[in-house]
Amino acid sequence: MKIIFLGTSHGNPEANRFCSSAAVVTGGKWYLIDAGAPILPLLLTRGVHPKEIGGIFITHSHDDHYLGLIEYTRVINKAAEYHGVSTPVLVPRKRVFSDVINTKFNYKLWHGKGRTKYKKYKKGVIFDDGTLKVTAIPVKHIFLSYAFLVEAEGKRILFSGDLARGMRDYPNVLYTTHVDALVLEAAHTYINTDEVIDKVNRSKIDRLLINHINPYRNTPEELSAAFGKIKSSVDCAAAFDGMELTI
Ligand SMILES: [Zn+2]
Ligand SMILES: [Zn+2]
Repeated sequence: MKIIFLGTSHGNPEANRFCSSAAVVTGGKWYLIDAGAPILPLLLTRGVHPKEIGGIFITHSHDDHYLGLIEYTRVINKAAEYHGVSTPVLVPRKRVFSDVINTKFNYKLWHGKGRTKYKKYKKGVIFDDGTLKVTAIPVKHIFLSYAFLVEAEGKRILFSGDLARGMRDYPNVLYTTHVDALVLEAAHTYINTDEVIDKVNRSKIDRLLINHINPYRNTPEELSAAFGKIKSSVDCAAAFDGMELTI
């Protein structure tokens, strides 16, 4: 499977980075982890038709992780050319998504009334279409926030979502289960600290992909210093918009 980073910025868009969204591409489908703006143009630019979207999974209710859904939902539900599209959208809270629902053009969107099929999830396995399975792991970033363990093609990717400052909620599954790639946020915690390096070095991971990068807290120099302290079996990289990897 492939990971394609659509947006790797922290909470604010920057000149070369959009807000959070990453695609996992497998079995001819695109699955989005978070949907920071502007996901629809980013998909169309890549020649991806919304009928190829297998699901959209939102880690938590901060707008840099879901704002692209407002436009996506309106256009997909209304435009004639998207007749027949059906996109599962899994969100942790209904109330917070009033931003999407209450937009002038978006109404009656819950419970499968539109082509976007919004559904609230809780912890555990939240999605399995036979191609890709997503397990939601609670974290402590904000009320109802989650990391996602994504499994497909016999491989595993863990998307940390946003974590609590200091990463005290770093998912324990990383210590016990082999994960091919960890996509770790770098907006709220300095990566180049003994605590974070220790967590990564105790994890059963092959790749570390730093995402959601706060450029003031985690400068390129700080990140490469951190990478130098991580065990040599782990392939480390800082993600950028447009980065594509085969896992
Ligand atoms: Zn965030
Ligand atoms: Zn957040």
